[in-house]
Amino acid sequence: MRILIVEDEPRLLELIGRTLRGEGYDVDVAADGSDGYDRARVGGFDLVLLDVMLPRMSGLEITMRLRRLGVRTPILMLTARDAVDDRVAGLEAGADDYLVKPFAFVELSARVRALLRRGGEAGGASLTVGDLVLDRSRREVRRGGRRTELTAREYALLEHLMKNAGRVLTRDQILAAVWPPDFDGGPNVVDTYVHYLREKVDRPPAEPLLRTVRGVGYVLGR
Ligand code: CA
Repeated sequence: MRILIVEDEPRLLELIGRTLRGEGYDVDVAADGSDGYDRARVGGFDLVLLDVMLPRMSGLEITMRLRRLGVRTPILMLTARDAVDDRVAGLEAGADDYLVKPFAFVELSARVRALLRRGGEAGGASLTVGDLVLDRSRREVRRGGRRTELTAREYALLEHLMKNAGRVLTRDQILAAVWPPDFDGGPNVVDTYVHYLREKVDRPPAEPLLRTVRGVGYVLGR
C-alpha cells in the first residue's frame, strides 16, 4: 500500500512518515501544496494524507482540483483548526475523512486503515495516470476514454507500472513482480512487453506516459 503525505511542518512530516513506514506502508512525501498536488495527480497512491494549511496551494484546493480531474484516491485531511467550517469545507471539497491536530498516532493509524479498507472494498477501484485508466473490477483499460484490449501479461505489467507511477523500476524488479517465479527467460522479455504496451496505450496523439530510463528501466507517469 502506497501513501502520500503532504505536510509542511518538517517534524510532523517525519513523525507521520516514520509511523506509517513502521506499519509497513510505502510512504512518499511532499512538503508544499504544489508538489503534493503534482504527485497526487500523477496517481499510483492508495491514500493521500493532506494538511489543510500548506504553502503554495491549500489542502482544500488540492482536493477540489484532484476530484475535478477524476482522481478518486481516498484523502484524509489533517486540519489544525478545530473549526467546523474547515472540516465541512474539506468533506465538501471531496475529502473522505479528517483528523484535527494534534492527534494521537494510534488514531491516525486507525483512520488510515479504515480508509484503505474502504478503498479496497470499492474494488481497489481503478488506477489513473493522466488519461490512462485501469479499472480493476472490470479488468478494463482505457486511454483518453477509448477501450483497449490487453493480454493477461500486458494487463499485469500495466497494473504494476501504474501502481508505481512516478517511480523508476528496473527490468529485474518488473520481471520479479509480473512474471511467475519459475519463468526462465531473461529481463529482455520486459522490453518486449513494454513495446507491446506502447503500441496499445501510448501511441500518438496521446501524450507519452511510459518512459525508458536508459541503463536503468522504465517509469510510467513522469
Ligand atoms: Ca501546515
